[in-house]
Parts: sequence; C-alpha cells; structure tokens
Amino acid sequence: DLPIIYAITPTYARPVQKAELTRLSHVVKLVPNIHWIIIEDAIETSKLVKSLLERADLKSRSTLLSAKTPDDFKLKAKDPNWSKARGVEQRNAGLEVIRKRINKASSRHTIVYFMDDDNTYSLELFQEMAKIERGKVGVWPVGLVGGLMVEKPILGGNEIIGFNSAWRPERPFPIDMAGFAISGDLIMDYPDASFSYEAPRGYQESEILRYVTVVRDLQPLANNCRSVLVWHTRTEAPKLDSETKLKKDGQKRSD
Ligand code: UDP
Ligand code: MN
Repeated sequence: DLPIIYAITPTYARPVQKAELTRLSHVVKLVPNIHWIIIEDAIETSKLVKSLLERADLKSRSTLLSAKTPDDFKLKAKDPNWSKARGVEQRNAGLEVIRKRINKASSRHTIVYFMDDDNTYSLELFQEMAKIERGKVGVWPVGLVGGLMVEKPILGGNEIIGFNSAWRPERPFPIDMAGFAISGDLIMDYPDASFSYEAPRGYQESEILRYVTVVRDLQPLANNCRSVLVWHTRTEAPKLDSETKLKKDGQKRSD
C-alpha cells in the first residue's frame, strides 16, 4: 500500500491565484495517493477555489478550509515579501486537520508535505516522498532558491552531514519548505510541532523540524539528493493598469 500523502497548500486571493491552482490541481490529479488540504488566507472559503476543485474532480480527495492571517502579521501590498512570515496560520490549520484525520489505531502510513501554491512540482517527487520511512523526515534538493540554482543536503556516505545553503547557513535546518516531508507518525507523536510567528525570517522550516528530528536522522531521497524534482518558482505579479483604464472608458461610454 502506498502511504497517504497529505499535501498542505496555503493560498490567497490575487490575480494569478486561479492560474496557480489550476497548475497545481492538475499535478494533484496525477498523484493517486494524495489528499490535498487547501487553506485559504481569508475569513471564509471562496467560490473560486471550491469550483476549481469540483471542476478538477478533486472534491473527494481534498479538504478546503480557511484560516486568515491576523492583521498584525499580514503582508501589506507594499511590504517586501520577506518582511513577514507567510503561510503560518494556514499550515498550522492544515496540521490540525491532519491530526484529527490520522487515526492512531490505523496502521496506514502517512506523509505530510507543505506544498505552496506557486512552486513547480514533478510527479516523481511524490514517488520519492512515498519512500519516507515511519519516524523519518525525507529531504531532497530544491531548485532556484536561496540564491542558488540548487539548494541541497550534502551526504557523507548515506548520511546527511550538511547543506550547501548560502543564505543563512547557520539555520539549524537551512532548507526550503519544499525540500522535506514528514512521516505522519511524527506529527502525531509531537503534537506541539508547528510553525510560529516568533520564528525569525527564514526559520519556519527549522521551527517545525526541530520538534521532530535532527539533521543526522534525515532521510536522503531523489537519487541521494542528486536530482531536482521541485523548483521554488515565483510568479511575477502581472501589470493590470489597463484594467482601470478599461473601466474608466466604460464609464465614459455609459455617461
Ligand atoms: N500565502 C498566503 N497568504 C499571504 C501570502 C502567501 O496564504 O498573504 C501563501 C502562498 O499562497 C504560498 C505560501 O503562503 O502558498 C508561501 O507564500 P509565497 O509563495 O509568497 O512565499 P515565497 O515563495 O516568497 O517564500
Ligand atoms: Mn512561493
């Protein structure tokens, strides 16, 4: 039996949201053993996301909920994107769902992955993830992140002895959110494991991982961390100035 992969995706309303989620939903469709947990950064869930799940025929394989980032922590349009943590509220809400869903009595193996809505995921990544052993955290390279073409764990024999990270390499786990997944039993064994607004910039990954593992216990995947199966792509915000122009022109015509 393949383990169930619980993929947690925070998402928020913006012009590119539907495009991002369309891309992601089509990947999810091709992975037989995913349960997709989408958490909207909003007071309530939206029609846009709900109907997108319906149209992709993913309703039975997904859970949709909302968890709004508190105003004090919310990124403002003009803030640089690194100035505040993103996804904390949503990922923690996702973990809560999983802790309720995982049946301690059941022997089914589960994996928890934090799958942001804008990255690029290869189908092979999910096959690798399924190899994560019980009680383990699996790790692999991530493309286009941390100022590098590839940020990746460094192996000594079959063990992870370090990371090639150049950005804040002093972090306990200097890896991106897309570069690891956690065996579900660890999520159950460490009920406090979660993300935090208190963590400094770049420390969310270390924040959750410090509860559940140590570097030497990490399980290298993706051809001993030689293959890149996920990329930290970021979508440019489109320029939409002509939208307001169109609206103004429309007003003029109807005057
Ligand atoms: N996100 C969110 N609310 C926000 C900003 C981001 O829910 O106000 C989500 C976003 O959709 C993504 C995750 O949080 O799934 C990480 O955000 P982003 O991709 O902008 O972070 P970066 O790639 O810059 O680290
Ligand atoms: Mn991103």
